[in-house]
Amino acid sequence: MTISLDLSTVPMPRSTAPGKPSLVGLSKPEIAARLVEAGIAERDAKMRATQLWNWIYVNGVTDFDGMTNIQKGVRAQLGENFQLDRPEIVSEQVSSDGTRKWLFRYRDPQNPRLPPVEIETVYIPEEDRGTLCVSSQVGCTLTCSFCHTGTQRLVRNLTAGEILGQILMARERLGDFPGGVRPDDGGLVPGGESRAITNVVMMGMGEPLYNYDNVKQALLIASDEAGISLSKRRITLSTSGVVPQIEPTGREIGVMLAISLHAVRNDLRDMLVPINKKYPLEELLAACRNFPGLSNARRITFEYVMLKDINDSDADAKELVRLLANIPAKINLIPFNPWPGTNYDCSSSARIERFADIVNRAGYASPVRTPRGRDIFAACGQLKSETERLRKTERDALTA
Ligand code: SF4
Repeated sequence: MTISLDLSTVPMPRSTAPGKPSLVGLSKPEIAARLVEAGIAERDAKMRATQLWNWIYVNGVTDFDGMTNIQKGVRAQLGENFQLDRPEIVSEQVSSDGTRKWLFRYRDPQNPRLPPVEIETVYIPEEDRGTLCVSSQVGCTLTCSFCHTGTQRLVRNLTAGEILGQILMARERLGDFPGGVRPDDGGLVPGGESRAITNVVMMGMGEPLYNYDNVKQALLIASDEAGISLSKRRITLSTSGVVPQIEPTGREIGVMLAISLHAVRNDLRDMLVPINKKYPLEELLAACRNFPGLSNARRITFEYVMLKDINDSDADAKELVRLLANIPAKINLIPFNPWPGTNYDCSSSARIERFADIVNRAGYASPVRTPRGRDIFAACGQLKSETERLRKTERDALTA
């Protein structure tokens, strides 16, 4: 089932005039500094930053006029100088299994004359949790051969505000802000009083550790207790293996780590996850062993896509167990989700079961991830947008 969205019903930020800087994605001290630059008294700036933080992240307000505990004059001053950017929704699709996918569009914050870019964000609801799969880049520099995003050249990194914008817009659509209403369109939202979005995974388009500073800022804001307040244990950052950034991820961001492993031999991983040529398995696993805070309560998830006759033999399963010895780990077996033009097939159910059995018997939890949202191309490894990188001459002409 595909919902074609009536955009007139979607709450949109009103203050989207190009050129005004957005306050979304700035830290509290950064907001306070911007306020002082805009003429707000220095003695009030910290308090105003705290008020704004609450309005933006707790209440989901997109318009300064709605900030009722701020005097009218100050609200007008804020509106003249800033905006509270969120992405535009180009489309929203709901899968027959309740998974929801958005195509979001962003204007370039530095230069609104550049063509907008588009990315995909996916919401995966279950009985007791709702996971938002967030993108970090438009396209990807890496070319993992089983991944659809890998066929789209990197256009640019998303800013911290654009990464957070996906969470804010999804919360808005799912009725997760105070006074919000759950959608009534066939999509699932977990029951009871729980939030619609309980978990965030940085597993959408792009390699998050190649956009480290923006991802770090966005995740620190998303986990701030006075804001969106997602527990760091409910945020997972997934990397294809950018080894030098793994230790800082644990130390500076403190979220859970997932590794796109997919092969247990360097020759095969060089082909499936080409960053392996730069950071081979030995270096990757050493970085995992040294991941700050690693313990049985804070395990690393290893993702392993099941590709027929490529990486799914008994010998592969046994080698996987050997490689991960002494690393507190979970292994996520992902049935391959096909996309147009791929040469890979998914392993048979019997093969996946047999593989899981070997890994389970070695003491590792190895759930097989049920494919979600395949009918709307929202499943793992299927995301892609039409945005193309401009040639340098085209870009220069627009930015001149
Ligand atoms: S798996 Fe991740 S890192 Fe690899 S091409 Fe796809 S988006 Fe990029």
